[in-house]
Amino acid sequence: MEQKKYDLLVIGGGPGGYVAAIRGSQLGMKVGLVEREHLGGICLNWGCIPTKALLRSADIYEHLTHAEEFGLAVDNPRFDLDKIVQRSRKVSKQLSGGVKHLLKKNKVEVIDGTAAFHGDQSIHVHHNGQHTHTLSASHTIIATGARARLLPGFTPDNKSLVTYHHAMIPETLPETLLVIGSGAIGAEFASFYCALGVQVTLVEVVDRVLPVEDHEISDFVGKALKKRGIEVLLNTMVHAPSIGKEGVTVTLEDRAQGSKETRRFSRAILAAGVVPNTEELGLESTKVVVGKGGIEIDGYCRTAHPGIYAIGDVAGAPMLAHKASHEAILCVEHLHGKTDTHPIDKSTVPGCTYCEPQVASVGLTERAAAEQGIPVKIGRFPFIGNGKAIALGATEGMIKTIFHAETGALIGAHLVGSEVTELISNFVLGMTLEATEAEFMHTIFPHPTLSEMLHESTLQAYGRAVHI
Ligand code: FAD
Repeated sequence: MEQKKYDLLVIGGGPGGYVAAIRGSQLGMKVGLVEREHLGGICLNWGCIPTKALLRSADIYEHLTHAEEFGLAVDNPRFDLDKIVQRSRKVSKQLSGGVKHLLKKNKVEVIDGTAAFHGDQSIHVHHNGQHTHTLSASHTIIATGARARLLPGFTPDNKSLVTYHHAMIPETLPETLLVIGSGAIGAEFASFYCALGVQVTLVEVVDRVLPVEDHEISDFVGKALKKRGIEVLLNTMVHAPSIGKEGVTVTLEDRAQGSKETRRFSRAILAAGVVPNTEELGLESTKVVVGKGGIEIDGYCRTAHPGIYAIGDVAGAPMLAHKASHEAILCVEHLHGKTDTHPIDKSTVPGCTYCEPQVASVGLTERAAAEQGIPVKIGRFPFIGNGKAIALGATEGMIKTIFHAETGALIGAHLVGSEVTELISNFVLGMTLEATEAEFMHTIFPHPTLSEMLHESTLQAYGRAVHI
């Protein structure tokens, strides 16, 4: 058993942990990182990246099936599910290998195994059932991420009832698929399987899909998913799953009507969110406080225990990779004594969903602004009014911008349509720079681009849109 001491020890090698470790090393600290599974965490191995690789295959396949619209002849387009999954796994492996290389280049010592606090001074690492290391550090960052939320009574068998992990490595396609939960993860899997011809039912317990988005955008996406052939059941609770030879039988309760129906699906994906990995970390031997949403931290990611910090999913919402990496940087810079670091401003954390059509947003929704009594000017611009969108054959979508009616500050932007996950950064930068409608109006956007719609949506808020 090896004993080691670090300036900074990081538990977990996801986009929170590995970024923290690299920044610590850049600042001259001796850094160790413990990872129990794959470097890159959920994001690179079982989340953001492999799902986007799958969706890319589905997108190309869909384009091929519509090739005629573009004057192309593609006979009998087909796909090989095995190869689609293999490509997705290869992309993940490549990126995980890239993280390993970056950590090595930055002289971060990577320790394989599962870490847990042992008393408040030391951390024990176990690997393959052996206690391999006893570590101590001046600063310890917990970056252990989150895992799929399991609803009571829902025990995945990883064949008929699966969570995101098995949903992204299917060996066969189900004939019918129930997706439980229409947040980002559920909506993305619904899009992927639908594109490959599976009959998908997407169930959501509240009255709209993508419940964290602006109501208008949720409604737009709900209609778009239905148009693609996905059965969307809102206000619906799923109960009593029973797994049999031919799939999963569930009771669907329509909460609005008060009616219940029993249905069988070949497969079901449980996509009811994620829960922070706070257990089995030995936190009871520290003063770290675990609340409902994860480990409780202050603006600089400090827990209640001096010298112990928490970042990323384990420290609560929004559970997004870019929020984890941002917290990593500010946490390490602050603990190192840099004085120009600032707590994260969660109002400028963008959210992206890569379903078809894509969704991206930042800042306040229209309803949240109204609830806060903020007077607003709202602009909207449809993709059908944009030359590039028409040329691309991607006319489904809209841009919605929300400005403070008195100050002109951009306080929210809500986008749905092709490539909006790339467009949103313009608005995020605008909000970070505290831009008003004047800056958006005076900026010259290149033509023809989808980004011109950002301009037009701003103009529309002030009654000056040209192309609508
Ligand atoms: P993780 O990435 O979860 O990393 C935590 C790491 O800690 C893991 O590698 C784990 O093995 C390790 N670990 C845990 N406990 C221990 C221990 N005791 N000892 C040692 N190691 C330990 N976010 C986006 O921003 N965009 C997306 O498009 C997106 N898509 C997603 C799709 C899916 C299907 C899922 C599930 C998630 C998606 N997310 C997305 C969320 C994103 O993956 C997370 O927000 C992000 O990975 C959080 O980073 P993290 O570093 O906090 O934790």
